[in-house]
Amino acid sequence: MRRRSLFRWVFLTATLTLAACARGPADYQQTLLVFGTLLEVKAFTDKPDEFHRAVTDLDQTFQRMHRQWHAWKGEGELVRLNRAFAAGEALLISTELVELLRQSQHYAKLSDGLFNPAIGRLIGLWGFHSDEPPGGPPPAMNQIQGLLDTAPSMEDIRFSGNRLSSANPSVAIDLGAFAKGYALNLAIQRLREFGIDNAIVNAGGDLCVSGSHGDRPWIIGIRHPQGEGVIASVGITDGECVLTSGNYERYREYDGIRYAHILDPRSGYPVEHVASATAISHEGALADAAATALSVAGPGAWEKTAARMGLTQVMLVDEKGRVYLTPEMGQRIEFQQALPEVIIGVSESDGSM
Ligand code: ADP
Ligand code: MG
Repeated sequence: MRRRSLFRWVFLTATLTLAACARGPADYQQTLLVFGTLLEVKAFTDKPDEFHRAVTDLDQTFQRMHRQWHAWKGEGELVRLNRAFAAGEALLISTELVELLRQSQHYAKLSDGLFNPAIGRLIGLWGFHSDEPPGGPPPAMNQIQGLLDTAPSMEDIRFSGNRLSSANPSVAIDLGAFAKGYALNLAIQRLREFGIDNAIVNAGGDLCVSGSHGDRPWIIGIRHPQGEGVIASVGITDGECVLTSGNYERYREYDGIRYAHILDPRSGYPVEHVASATAISHEGALADAAATALSVAGPGAWEKTAARMGLTQVMLVDEKGRVYLTPEMGQRIEFQQALPEVIIGVSESDGSM
């Protein structure tokens, strides 16, 4: 017994030493708890020390972002900004948040307001400003209408350098549909700065990649919105991000009805006809904003919204499990299970921009 374990020890040490001597790239992985979710950072690299240093750096950056940009918790700069907006006052904020808000203003406009991060009060009214899933009946119609009448919009925000104010006191920013895509993009950039060029950062299926996994691309799975497992897989190339909005993660359930956490800013009610929307883009923030806007647009209007936002690679799954794809997405995606129906849309990206 002893002999055998000694042999095993020698064998193991020899293997590790050989691996270290070979100095070829290998898989490394670390998981962080950030933005209230698990962030898996994987790299295929021969620089493990740099990888671990980069991950420590990312952890600090993301914890700070989480504190500063939380919509309803703590005393971060977003909470203070929303308070200033409500009071009709101006507030000096960080250059990074200014940049984020300018970007989100731009995407809100491109989406015709289907992505509208100024509807924080409506999101709060539906109970989604809480760690626990909300329960009980939906809010009263007159409360919803009351908030719709105040028409909060990103266009109400006035930028004077880093000093921001709002022409409309009902504007309350919620970056829940957008900040994750921005952060994932940033993570890939930061890893590159540490010399890690082949990596994947994945927050519950939302991800960005760099490089490849040796001589093959990173292959990722898109979660099935209605069942277990993966609906499709797709090879992702250097710098691309895949963002999915789904009504399966967070919802309010009452009387057998599920109310999704994605709201239609026009009606004030949760989206009904989309189970999930996925967008692939080099801009993580754009893909995230678009996945939300496409969920709101639904089967009738998703092609127009994708085109207006400049996206060619989009997939929607409706509540009956039917799949809608742009031709470009159809070419690269591989389905893992039998599907009720696949509808290839018209790519309008050349026309209506
Ligand atoms: P997921 O969290 O499933 O990835 P999203 O990216 O769509 O989905 O983010 C949903 C969050 O975005 C909600 O919890 C809410 O905070 C916010 N939100 C909901 N509806 C909208 C909307 N129409 N525009 C902008 N933000 C929204
Ligand atoms: Mg989103």
